[in-house]
Amino acid sequence: MSERTEAPVLYFVIPCYNEEAVLPVTAGSFLDELEELVQKGKISAESRILYVDDGSRDRTWEILREMSRGDGRVLAIRQSRNRGHQNALLAGLMEARELCDITVSMDCDGQDDVHAAEAMVDAYRDGCDIVYGVRGNRDVDSVFKRTTAQGFYRFLAWMGAEVVYNHADYRLMSARALNALAAFPEVNLYLRGLAPLVGFKSTVVEYTRRERQAGETHYPLRKMLHLAFDGVTSLSVRPLKMITHLGLLLALLSLAGIVWAVVRALTGGTVAGWASLMCIVCFMSGIQLLCLGVIGEYIGKIYMETKGRPRYIISERTFEGEKREHVP
Ligand code: UDP
Ligand code: MG
Repeated sequence: MSERTEAPVLYFVIPCYNEEAVLPVTAGSFLDELEELVQKGKISAESRILYVDDGSRDRTWEILREMSRGDGRVLAIRQSRNRGHQNALLAGLMEARELCDITVSMDCDGQDDVHAAEAMVDAYRDGCDIVYGVRGNRDVDSVFKRTTAQGFYRFLAWMGAEVVYNHADYRLMSARALNALAAFPEVNLYLRGLAPLVGFKSTVVEYTRRERQAGETHYPLRKMLHLAFDGVTSLSVRPLKMITHLGLLLALLSLAGIVWAVVRALTGGTVAGWASLMCIVCFMSGIQLLCLGVIGEYIGKIYMETKGRPRYIISERTFEGEKREHVP
């Protein structure tokens, strides 16, 4: 693809949920980076920062409103209620795609090194439509978080869900890629898994993941496990295939057991054991319930998909929006 010569209009898309502690700390660095990129002629002066308030219960929205009043480069939209990071991010991306050439999505806690955006923009101008920010090292994360997070990527890959290793949601997407993403109607959102499905030319940019500047993580282990399970069941049907394989394996094992029991009976040996029988019955019931649960999980997803509820609802904007169609 040819090089892109014009400086693109960039929108940083930054979801925030109850971030009153961190916003005043990090907001300046986003603006500084934006200004630096404009000065270097890498992006257009029309570039903006678009915050998405994910229905915060603290002063986040007030802070965002004040910031946007004080600086024309700061825009903010608000979700009608808390819907989670992925939905908030999608709301921002869909809002931005009609206003800009490229978006860079980031967390608002300063963990994603904003300076990596320059390399992302360079890659875009070299012809890439999606640029994945990839964590170079995880030294600042606790050993526990690091091992669980790495295990998470391996698990996803093993389960047949294509994800970019060590990539979260720090990502550049062109308007073209965003328009393609808009055509994915799924309600069960897992954006980092959808981006590779969108395709187009892509590359990765390494950055150093830093510590949260203030406030607390919204992703404790419970939510991480939920996200992992959600990711797998949204992207792949491998668990269903594994159930089939497990069923086949157990059936073959029990067939062997039956043959063994018959042979023992014919040769005069007694087949002993109420206890062993009970163990096997309990074990089998457990496996069956587990399999039913996994199947049920998929049925639940189908249920939510058929309802086709809106994936986000924007209740407020700090800027005069031209009349825009709501994209569910
Ligand atoms: N976030 C959100 N809605 C939520 C939870 C989190 O918009 O319901 C935002 C949050 O403000 C932050 C980003 O998602 O900008 C990532 O969250 P966090 O930093 O808590 O997760 P971690 O980086 O610890 O995985
Ligand atoms: Mg974070």
